[in-house]
Amino acid sequence: MSREERKILQSERLRVTVERVYFNVPWYREKMQSAGLSPEMIGGIDDISKLPFTTKQDLRDNYPFGLFAVPMSEIVRLHASSGTTGKPTVVGYTRKDISTWSEVMARTLSCAGAGKDDFIQVSYGYGLFTGGLGLHYGGEKIGASVIPISGGNTKRQLQLMKDFGTTVLACTPSYALYLSEAIEESGISRDELKLRAGVFGAEPWTDQMRGEIEEKLRIKAIDIYGLSEVIGPGVASECEFQEGLHINEDHFFAEIIDPVTLEPLPEGETGELVFSTITKEGLPVIRYRTRDLTSLNYEKCRCGRTLTRMVKCTGRSDDMLIIRGVNLFPSQIESILLEMSETRPHYLLVVDRVDNLDTLQLQVEVEDSFFQDRISELQALRQKIQNNIESTLGFSVDVKLVEHKTIERSEGKSKRVIDKRKF
Ligand SMILES: [Zn+2]
Repeated sequence: MSREERKILQSERLRVTVERVYFNVPWYREKMQSAGLSPEMIGGIDDISKLPFTTKQDLRDNYPFGLFAVPMSEIVRLHASSGTTGKPTVVGYTRKDISTWSEVMARTLSCAGAGKDDFIQVSYGYGLFTGGLGLHYGGEKIGASVIPISGGNTKRQLQLMKDFGTTVLACTPSYALYLSEAIEESGISRDELKLRAGVFGAEPWTDQMRGEIEEKLRIKAIDIYGLSEVIGPGVASECEFQEGLHINEDHFFAEIIDPVTLEPLPEGETGELVFSTITKEGLPVIRYRTRDLTSLNYEKCRCGRTLTRMVKCTGRSDDMLIIRGVNLFPSQIESILLEMSETRPHYLLVVDRVDNLDTLQLQVEVEDSFFQDRISELQALRQKIQNNIESTLGFSVDVKLVEHKTIERSEGKSKRVIDKRKF
């Protein structure tokens, strides 16, 4: 579908969605009324910037079901975020929403080249988290053999991967890397495995990390993107060319805004990604602020898909650390570490404030061989990392080298930053 044709479809769907929230969700109606808006003022997608934003906090404030647009009798599924930093955010799906989700997940897996002859090992967590069941329904929709192993139990993961002949692995990129290490240690030869592709998401990861996963697992690593507030995984996915993630724009309309002024940015500029769902029934969201930073590319892809592509997300507007007035994304540190052969991509940033001055400590795992060497070599490596960071990012960091597997591994999203500062 051309962009022009798609715009007609999106406009029609947006109008229906705006009416749905206006007449069924008091919170949206009040928001629109206080902005002097009524549904007939939204003629199409070009009017979208008139509409108010929705944030994660709005979902929390309306906990648990306050933003749902249908009676609970029509909701067939609930998912929720872990809620480690307050109330969880709850999302609900109608039967049609589940069908839409399966469809966009089927597209995602097809983008990775998967089909009915594949064995898809779903190592995302099953449960309230959307990862496991999202991949599961998409896998069944394309007719693949789905292995619903969920996260954890690495030994079992490897056994089934080998015995069942898994061809496609679905998990977080950090867990994929962890599995690659476990394969090395288990004595299983890579030739005994049939893996050929991986669909990885739920946390930001760099191209260097992709390179490492592709090399170690000898697979094509596809980046997938989604968030439960929009639908779960299935919002966007890379194709085999890995030149940006195709957004399923017939269901989720994307905008890029300036995270500070909240104004829409000109086409192609980098800013915060905002999504409006235009087909969802249970929990439609209008202009949901993802906090993810990216840019959009409207050119047709080499794969033939016309769906707009978003650049792989590597930073979040709320992950951005401001240290001594300088902006820093953990992914910048990660890129530097991945370029060095001596370090492993497992690290932790500890930020603190001592005597009113921000301090930054980087704990990073190094190859075990270093700890058998003399202290002077460890010191030299430490100095090298400090120098690399200082020359690339322009500020000093205290580097602490730790042994392999000292930093806590995560089977879900990995924790990269501990900020002890009190604001
Ligand atoms: Zn493509």
